[in-house]
Amino acid sequence: MHPFTFIQASDPPAAIRVHAAGKGSAYLGGGTNLVDLMKMNIETPARVIDINGLPLGNIEQLPNGRVRIGALVRNSDLAWHPVIMRLYPVLSQALLSGASPQLRNMATVGGNLLQRTRCPYFYDTSFACNKRTPGSGCSAIKGYNRSHAVLGGSDQCIATHPSDMCVAMAALDATILVEGPNGPRNIPFPDFHLLPGDTPHRETALAPGDLITAVELPDIPFAGRSHYLKMRDRASYEFALASAAVALDIRDGVIQAARVALGGVATKPWRSAGAEKVLTGAANNQQTYEAAAAAALAQAKTYQYNAFKPELAKRTLIRALATTGGML
Ligand code: SF4
Repeated sequence: MHPFTFIQASDPPAAIRVHAAGKGSAYLGGGTNLVDLMKMNIETPARVIDINGLPLGNIEQLPNGRVRIGALVRNSDLAWHPVIMRLYPVLSQALLSGASPQLRNMATVGGNLLQRTRCPYFYDTSFACNKRTPGSGCSAIKGYNRSHAVLGGSDQCIATHPSDMCVAMAALDATILVEGPNGPRNIPFPDFHLLPGDTPHRETALAPGDLITAVELPDIPFAGRSHYLKMRDRASYEFALASAAVALDIRDGVIQAARVALGGVATKPWRSAGAEKVLTGAANNQQTYEAAAAAALAQAKTYQYNAFKPELAKRTLIRALATTGGML
């Protein structure tokens, strides 16, 4: 492992100061992704700043109805929190579908937002990878790309975003609270993760020093009627081949409002405005679900080994909608 300086931060401003002082700093929360990356010399920070002592571990309901989740809340604690289970079951289900109980007990909300792709070429330093080494090429585009993205890719990178939690948060229109060298700011969820474009090594809107302090969920009265469905090669401890996060507001058999996001098929957590448009104002039935799924995958671009993904994603979304809509 590359040598590094280990620093325990005493408060957020101190952590931000150290992080912003020079290139090559990493915040350490649960470490469930970062430590692996460091062991493989894929990430080689000069300074590792342990933030586990910072007061960022609470979940609170705010007077305006929003729910604020501290960046250091563990994935297990968030998944089993009674407010989350009652108001945002899609988030609880997404969290519980990810990783293993041991990992969920360690992994933090902030770290989950920042977890990096599981593209096998990214982790094998003998292969070219634009995300790991900018300008070196992409081994996946003409390689074994079964797990790769069919939405949001570029000719520089087609790696899927690995998080389940983020798919639910995209559907819920979360906001990410950040403190940086120039003070606090809020980042809407769609703006947080970047498309690969020509710079796949740039994955988020964060700048040096930026510290994620919390995530806020808006008050969505119908989010209690929501669901997360994940399709994968085995029943646990596996990343999604396709997943869907769905929330529906249904009255008198008509969908009044809808939230749809997809995972496992895109380079970032994929909110589908197209599917939501089809669903809104339509009858709550199978025909509507199928039209929404077709809209969600209309722009899909497949590669040699992942041509099955658009159909799998459509079926996943249809089933998630049917479950949420009470049609199963
Ligand atoms: Fe690297 Fe992205 Fe290509 Fe995978 S898909 S090899 S992460 S550039």
